[in-house]
Amino acid sequence: MPGFEIFGAEERKQVSDVLESGVLMRYGFDGMRNGHWKAKEFEKAFAERMQSQYCQLVSSGTSALTTALAAAGIGAGDEVIMPTFTFVASFESIMMLGAVPVLVDIDDTLTLDPKAVEAAITPNTRCVMPVHMCGSMANLKALKALCNNHKLILLEDACQALGGTYEGKPLGSIGDLGCFSFDFVKTITCGEGGGIITNNEQYAVKLDQFQDHGHDHVGNDRGAESHPYLGYNFRISELHAAVGLAQLDKLDGILKTQKRNYSIIREALSTIEGVTFRRVPEGGEENYSFLNFFLPTEDLAKKVHKALGEAGVDACFYWYTNNWHYIKGWNHLKELKSMGRLPSEIRARMQDLKTADFSKSDAWMSRTISSLIKIGWSEVEVQERATIMKETIEKVLSS
Ligand SMILES: *Cc1c(COP(=O)(O)O)cnc(C)c1O
Repeated sequence: MPGFEIFGAEERKQVSDVLESGVLMRYGFDGMRNGHWKAKEFEKAFAERMQSQYCQLVSSGTSALTTALAAAGIGAGDEVIMPTFTFVASFESIMMLGAVPVLVDIDDTLTLDPKAVEAAITPNTRCVMPVHMCGSMANLKALKALCNNHKLILLEDACQALGGTYEGKPLGSIGDLGCFSFDFVKTITCGEGGGIITNNEQYAVKLDQFQDHGHDHVGNDRGAESHPYLGYNFRISELHAAVGLAQLDKLDGILKTQKRNYSIIREALSTIEGVTFRRVPEGGEENYSFLNFFLPTEDLAKKVHKALGEAGVDACFYWYTNNWHYIKGWNHLKELKSMGRLPSEIRARMQDLKTADFSKSDAWMSRTISSLIKIGWSEVEVQERATIMKETIEKVLSS
């Protein structure tokens, strides 16, 4: 998945354009910038690549989620439905606005189970946030139908699935809003950065305002602009945007290499009795950034994960016991350990995560192993990795 594996002259050229002008900010200083508007250029190119009308760049994937929720009018006490398997950024971005995260089960897609979502809808629900974890998507058709019926906003967290598609459309472009991260380990990177796409003009205007202290960006005197709403500073810098611009040109090549490497490993593992793969919803195509597979039991998954590590197979993840990506490791959330006092709406309405039953999620996650797909591997190296993985897993399963 990581774009950082292929930094080169293109990134250096883009960054030196910015350094030569010395204008590191995305707004203003028109006379000094030698015509370089890297953030604007990236937004235009990204919107086009994502078949969406608007793109707003921001400082991170996490701030993209917060900005998207804010632009959609979500605030104190509103409930946002999110999965148990995701990165901590999901609940962070929701709680930042005083909104209440409602955690529900995933299924064998490793993303939101539409039935669990439906069961969690209350009169306070405003938004459903599927997270397309590890390169593949939620059942967007079912979620879209639910959102239409209940008048809810569908916000796709596509931070880990850039380049994947659903019914021929880019992931992130199917919901009302879609969010991406360009942090250092994502499919393409700016160092730090994020983006939001939408086809809704009103949302686009508010995204633009929220990420820059409420600036309306009307006219060409920053100090004289007005501020129709309260906002924040989630701006991206020109330096970061410049790196992203070079990386975006490499996206199709990255996806092609990921698919080749993924397919070689998948083919080898698919011959093992007892190994099955994460379900991709009908009409979907992964971005191939991870190969996700299930072992028959939790015990076997733990043994396989350990054996793979001992055999020198790097970048295999057992998320079930990982501190950052699964509810089991989120004690700070379960105990609501905020540094200051949380909004009363959250304290009053947050589900009790210490006693909540997520056995359905556990049943999948406890058996899941994900192999990162690197793009720096040569075909020979992937073949070797596939062979070692197959032999190691077979040895565990037969012992
Ligand atoms: C990386 C990631 C984020 C947050 O992105 P940052 O740029 O690191 O803030 C959000 N959601 C998911 C699923 C991610 O993988």
